[in-house]
Amino acid sequence: MALVVQKYGGTSVGSIEKIENVARKVARVKDAGNDIVVVLSAMSGETDRLINLAHSITPDPDERELDSLVSTGEQVTITLLAMALNKMGYRARSFLGFQIPIKTDSAFTKARIEDILDGKIRQELKRGTIIVVAGFQGIDAEGNITTLGRGGSDTSAVAVAAALKADVCEIYTDVDGVYTADPNICPDARRLDKIAYDEMLELARAGAKVLQARSVEMAKKHGVPVYVKSTFSDEGGTLVTKEDEEMEREVVAGVTQDKDQAKITIVKVPDKPGIAAKIFAPLAENNIVVDMIIQNASVEGNTDMTFTVSRKGIKQARQIVENIAKEIGAKEVVVNENVAKISIVGVGMVSHSGVAAKMFSTLYKENINILMISTSEIKVSCVIESKYTELAVIALHEAFELGKRD
Ligand code: ASP
Ligand code: MG
Repeated sequence: MALVVQKYGGTSVGSIEKIENVARKVARVKDAGNDIVVVLSAMSGETDRLINLAHSITPDPDERELDSLVSTGEQVTITLLAMALNKMGYRARSFLGFQIPIKTDSAFTKARIEDILDGKIRQELKRGTIIVVAGFQGIDAEGNITTLGRGGSDTSAVAVAAALKADVCEIYTDVDGVYTADPNICPDARRLDKIAYDEMLELARAGAKVLQARSVEMAKKHGVPVYVKSTFSDEGGTLVTKEDEEMEREVVAGVTQDKDQAKITIVKVPDKPGIAAKIFAPLAENNIVVDMIIQNASVEGNTDMTFTVSRKGIKQARQIVENIAKEIGAKEVVVNENVAKISIVGVGMVSHSGVAAKMFSTLYKENINILMISTSEIKVSCVIESKYTELAVIALHEAFELGKRD
């Protein structure tokens, strides 16, 4: 007998039929003699719909209210699943974040889980109850409802698994695992049986949508083994786990792309101490995440500062940067929204040289201009024009022979 945590994403609970399908899958785990805790997302499209409702009232809704609103999508799915299980003769109970409670900080729309009290869940499990928990939400110290950022129910599931010391955390979605590249772009993409936490973390941060990056961070920290599986097939699956010798020791594990990128250049910034702090502190204060940063060599006391931010937040970022530019006496601000970031990731890079060079020459062969570069121990990222995204992914996937196996 094991303690199993399963999470089902929006496409897995997008209709009554699909919720009933999930109920049957959950029942099978229970019938096999296991304890089970299920974490759910809202029905697919629901969170977007709720956000749009808010924006139809105001472009800038109060974030406390926004969190209360968008958290309702999960209340619908967890209650329906509990009902479906009850109908099948199982004892099932749904719990919202505050009913457990899942305690978070007060950073509305991107809260962090601080603690999960497991008393109520354990008590119910002892009675044989199937527990159904609302993903994506929690409660702060003042009793406000918070949400964990888009895709946050992955993090809810891993956090619940960590708190309960569950044997496994299974993330059910509409793809059957983690691939060497987005299969929608690259028909040659191959599913990985296993991937190291660090690789998955970099892939998620670099734009792979399978898991929320924070959930991988948490899984790594608490050593929770995470299986990514398809709700609609019993085949396949990818295990996200500690690095081990058995893992296929390829230099590169995968290629990923992120089109949610915009590039901002502040032209002719007076080059003196404190300038970078003046530019980036106000962006940080406004919770704008800056990804890559390049400062050019200065010419006659002036330099250009270029960096990337999320395209979704470009309006706010632009406004802030234009104000700073005036303040520090820079010449102008140039924004390019037609860029994308392409990354290759693999723990094997640590012990191999020439990986970045191979990436650059591959892009060169396709005549793709590289606008920015950044590297870490296990990742190389290039910003390119977004119209070349697919071409770049396919070319890199082939160059690193990610599709081929003997
Ligand atoms: N429903 C939330 C979202 O759409 C959380 C999740 O699905 O993980 O972002
Ligand atoms: Mg998701």
